[in-house]
Amino acid sequence: MHGFFTEATNSTAQKLAAQYSKSLIEASLDPLITINREGKITDMNEALVHITGVSRNELTGSNFFDYFTDKHKAQKVYQQVFQNNAIEDYPLTLRHKDGKLTDVLFNGSVYKDNLGKVQGVVIVARNTGGQKWALDLQNANKELAYQNDEKEKRAAELVIANQELAFQNEEKEKRANELIIANKELLFQNQEKEKRASELVIANKELAFQNDEKEKRAAELVIANKELAFQNNEKEKRADELIIANEELIFQNLEKEKRAAELVIANKELAFQNDEKEKRANELIIANKELIFQNQEKEKREIVNKELKELNYTTKLDSQYTLSLIEASRDPLVTINTKGKITDMNEALVNSTGKTREELTGSDFFDYFTEQQKAREVYQEVFEKGCVADSPLTLRHKDGKLTDVLFNGSVYKNEVGNVQGVVIVARDITDQKRIATELIEARVFAELATEIAEEAKRRAERATITAENAVKAKQQFLSNMSHEIRTPMNAIIGFTKVVLKTDLTLKQKEYLDAIKMSGDALIVLINDILDLAKVDSGKMTFEKTPFKLNSSVAAMLHLFEPKIQEKNLKLIKEYDPQIPQVLIGDPVRLHQIILNLVSNAVKFTSKGKITVSVNLIHEDVETVIIEFAVTDTGIGIPEDRMGKIFENFQQASSRTSRLYGGTGLGLAIVKQLIEPQGGTIRVQSTVGTGSTFSFTLSFQKTTSDAEMGNEFIELDTEIKNIKILVVEDIPLNQLLMKTLLDDFGFERDIAENGKIAIEKLKEKEYDVILMDLQMPEMNGFETTEYIRHTLKSQIPIIALTADVTTVDLAKCKAVGMNDYLAKPVDDRLLYSKIIGLLKKTSLNAIHIESVNEEEITLKKEKYINLAYLKQRAKSNPVLMEEMINLYLTQTPAIIKTIKESLANKNWHLVSAAAHKMIPSFAIVGISPVFENIAKQIQETATVLDKTEEIEALVQQLEEVCAQACSELEEELNKIKNTIK
Ligand code: ADP
Repeated sequence: MHGFFTEATNSTAQKLAAQYSKSLIEASLDPLITINREGKITDMNEALVHITGVSRNELTGSNFFDYFTDKHKAQKVYQQVFQNNAIEDYPLTLRHKDGKLTDVLFNGSVYKDNLGKVQGVVIVARNTGGQKWALDLQNANKELAYQNDEKEKRAAELVIANQELAFQNEEKEKRANELIIANKELLFQNQEKEKRASELVIANKELAFQNDEKEKRAAELVIANKELAFQNNEKEKRADELIIANEELIFQNLEKEKRAAELVIANKELAFQNDEKEKRANELIIANKELIFQNQEKEKREIVNKELKELNYTTKLDSQYTLSLIEASRDPLVTINTKGKITDMNEALVNSTGKTREELTGSDFFDYFTEQQKAREVYQEVFEKGCVADSPLTLRHKDGKLTDVLFNGSVYKNEVGNVQGVVIVARDITDQKRIATELIEARVFAELATEIAEEAKRRAERATITAENAVKAKQQFLSNMSHEIRTPMNAIIGFTKVVLKTDLTLKQKEYLDAIKMSGDALIVLINDILDLAKVDSGKMTFEKTPFKLNSSVAAMLHLFEPKIQEKNLKLIKEYDPQIPQVLIGDPVRLHQIILNLVSNAVKFTSKGKITVSVNLIHEDVETVIIEFAVTDTGIGIPEDRMGKIFENFQQASSRTSRLYGGTGLGLAIVKQLIEPQGGTIRVQSTVGTGSTFSFTLSFQKTTSDAEMGNEFIELDTEIKNIKILVVEDIPLNQLLMKTLLDDFGFERDIAENGKIAIEKLKEKEYDVILMDLQMPEMNGFETTEYIRHTLKSQIPIIALTADVTTVDLAKCKAVGMNDYLAKPVDDRLLYSKIIGLLKKTSLNAIHIESVNEEEITLKKEKYINLAYLKQRAKSNPVLMEEMINLYLTQTPAIIKTIKESLANKNWHLVSAAAHKMIPSFAIVGISPVFENIAKQIQETATVLDKTEEIEALVQQLEEVCAQACSELEEELNKIKNTIK
């Protein structure tokens, strides 16, 4: 080493510098080596010694490459230094001789001599071991920290990622669930949609259906109307059916009787057959006896003539003959010994039992019967009694078939008289039994059929009752309603009339006319509806009252005068003078008919005339037939509608109602009023020319006088100071009456009911009473009765009635009313009736007064009062005599009948006789108190256990009648004197 450095540092300064350099090199921790061109180590520092573990000496001259792990590489690096003059930081690894390795960074450069010739290479191998390790450690730490950080980050990221994952899983699940729900929702919505769609279809159908329904309802309404008509028809049909059902019942009863008769015949037949059978049995018994006898004979012969075989042969033939007879019988025949074993039989038994003869012979006889014990008893009976007849038993065939038989048996004996056994004939009665059963069945069937028919009848009756009740309810409703409507309507019309009479402007009059017309139309409609209901319920009844036809028609036509004048028409009445003055019929209904026809004629005619003609077309002793015709020159009726107009709610054309009003009920009612009375209605019409409505009605003729009428007496103003009592409860009607009567210049008082009226009558004198019928406290009928019988007053009474068509005019008459007026009251008619009645009474007054004077002299407690009779007979003494005579002959006869029937306890007759008597009380003016006795008898007689009561009443009645009769006889004498 020193060689190299020595050469370099030849001078001292140089020496010092070289030493310094050398110490620096030695101090370096990095190995420093110089190598010659051959690769041999020429010099080194301590660091190389240290790293290789090889001494300086050994190292010097040694092969540089040997100390590296990779010699080849080291060699290459060394060569590279020579080529490139230097190398920097080339990594190589030095090996210690102990094996320890040191990583170095190989930095080399060539060194040259002064001449610049390359001497060798100087190498510094920087030991990277310590540095690198620390660095590595540091780096490793950093790396670790970094990696830890990274790891933590990763962990955190992992946690986050996991959370995210978890979250995403949850989300996914949620989504999945949502998806499921969404799917379900979708499904549901689809279903909903489908439902909606089908609902829509249904709704559409429903809509269509409802439209249909609506149309149907409309159609039903039409049908309902028809139904109403139909139900009426049905009702009639029911009635017809009832009749048929009754006929059916009668027929079935007849059938039953026939069956019963057949049964009787069958029974007789049975009895006859039994007789026949008995005869047969008897014959058989006789035959048996004969047989037995012959057997006995045979046996006898056998005993006596055992040797006589020929004779035996004959006997055998005989027995064969008998046997063949027995065999021929169709009834089972059998012989049994004393032990009950079969000894012989015929073919019939073989057939009935199905056993062979061999099986039967010696077998137990009783085995072949269904009731063995009974068979045994019968058999024993035969032994006890010697015989038994017609004991019923049943034989059983081995196949189970049964044969009903009548068992006839008798004992047979041997020749010495010892009982050998029993011979039995069982008669087959299967057929008879069958016939008997059939007959019983037939009878049961007949009875059943009767029951069914009766049930059907009951049902039909119930149905009829239900239908009738429904109709009744309807009619009641209509009648109530129309009554309620009528009262205020009457007031409206009445007051309109009153106002119309005051001073009015033209316009006001026009308006009021319109109100009145509407009111009149409404009243007509209400009456029509009520009538229709009555027709429907079959309640339309017809009076038979004497009335004056001529004045009745005249009064009706009077009512149309204002209308006729207003329309500038002419009204012509043609009345046949041959018609009897007084006829019996229903004037109210006739009034209604003519009113309807004339009002139609007026309504549908705008110019020309209306002719009402009344003609007698037939007359005999008792009746007349009269034709009424209403002819107009109006619009006429098209031919095709003429058949229709008599139906409910039918008009000639749909325009009719608009142009002329009306409901199409009038003619229907007219028809219903005519036809039930036996009349007919016809129409002839030409459109544009006019129409004729004509009808015929028959009336009875009479010699008696008309009771009440619509006579229209010409107004006579001579009678003055007239005092009227109005008995009326409704304030509106009171006011109306007041106004009308004030207008006439009459004095008038008002009583709210019958009781008040009676009080007023006692205090003051009146000329006429106007009496409402329906009133609280005391109605019009009761009041009139009281006035006539208790007050014994003959003051003229006019009934005021809202319902002319239903009012019981007969009742008005019976209680003693003189006339009636329909509401709304026609003022002219009212005036004429009041005046007419006053005229009549003033005429009669002279007679009555004279009689009254005579009556005053009579005893006060007189039973009779002839005022009524006088009035009825118009004080005609002959008529009165006739009537009193009638009473005198009739009354004692009735009393006698009552007493006799009472003794016989014939209550029905008692009641009927008392009833018959009632009208006569009023005729001869006997007080209603006594009339009530007769009424009481009539009612009580139908009640059981009232015998004593009735006896007392009858006695009272007898006394009253006896007294009345004696009084009447006195009167009769007086009257007879006046006739003379
Ligand atoms: P309303 O008169 O209330 O309509 P009706 O039953 O009285 O009912 O008459 C039925 C129909 O007959 C009338 O609507 C009308 O068309 C016809 N008719 C009745 N009478 C006459 C007549 N005298 N002239 C013309 N048409 C008539």
